Amino acid sequence: MSQAKRRRVIAGNWKMYKTQAETRAFFSAFLPLASGARRCDIVITPPFTAICAAVEATRGSNISIGAQDVFWEKEGAFTGEIAPPMLVDAGCRYVIIGHSERRQFFGETDETVAKKTKAALAARLTPIVCVGELLEHREAGRTEEICETQFTGGPGTLTPEEFSRILIAYEPVWAIGTGKTATPEIAAAVHRFLRKCAERKFSPEQAQALRILYGGSVKPDNIQGLMAQEELDGALVGGASLDAKSFASIVNGCESAH
Ligand code: PEP
Repeated sequence: MSQAKRRRVIAGNWKMYKTQAETRAFFSAFLPLASGARRCDIVITPPFTAICAAVEATRGSNISIGAQDVFWEKEGAFTGEIAPPMLVDAGCRYVIIGHSERRQFFGETDETVAKKTKAALAARLTPIVCVGELLEHREAGRTEEICETQFTGGPGTLTPEEFSRILIAYEPVWAIGTGKTATPEIAAAVHRFLRKCAERKFSPEQAQALRILYGGSVKPDNIQGLMAQEELDGALVGGASLDAKSFASIVNGCESAH
């Protein structure tokens, strides 16, 4: 299957930024700049408290809204947690799972990633499952080992049907929020490796259909170089997704890279 058959996705991770008013202001500026995008899907994941404002502001547009995390139970005495059906009820279609900041600061493990992914899929959300190595892993030549372990313990636990409904984001931790982007060639090599993991666990067809996004200091000035790599099926963008003009120029850079 050629890359053209994998539709690209540009997803913005707002992390713990933006109030409801700031969310509305972002979309007033962003919608006219990105409404022409036809070739790639656009996703924004605001903090939980701004999800409804984002859904309202993007109604009828080409933009989907997602969340940055989710719990695996449907309801119950789990103070502070949010269930998959609650995200669907709020208007979400996507959810990021296993972001490195969740792994680093909130005890996320491959096991919790697997549970959250299955629960999100059961609610018909599309999970964006993050994997990626630390700088010390890369420097020790352990990138593939770490990515394979995270793949096997997370997406690798899904059924083939479940696996067909997820996206993976390869996010080298050393490139997140640091201004250090992986070169397009480094990113493509890891994407190829992850596709091999998918092929071994599932099938060549499923591996070819899998969309793998790159994340780590994606900016307007590097998106075209990254998207020139057929292996990259889009991007997960943190800092540069907070500004309407810069996120629109990333979306439009992805559009024109085809
Ligand atoms: C992210 O938060 O997933 C991310 C890639 O951040 P940044 O683009 O700021 O490196």
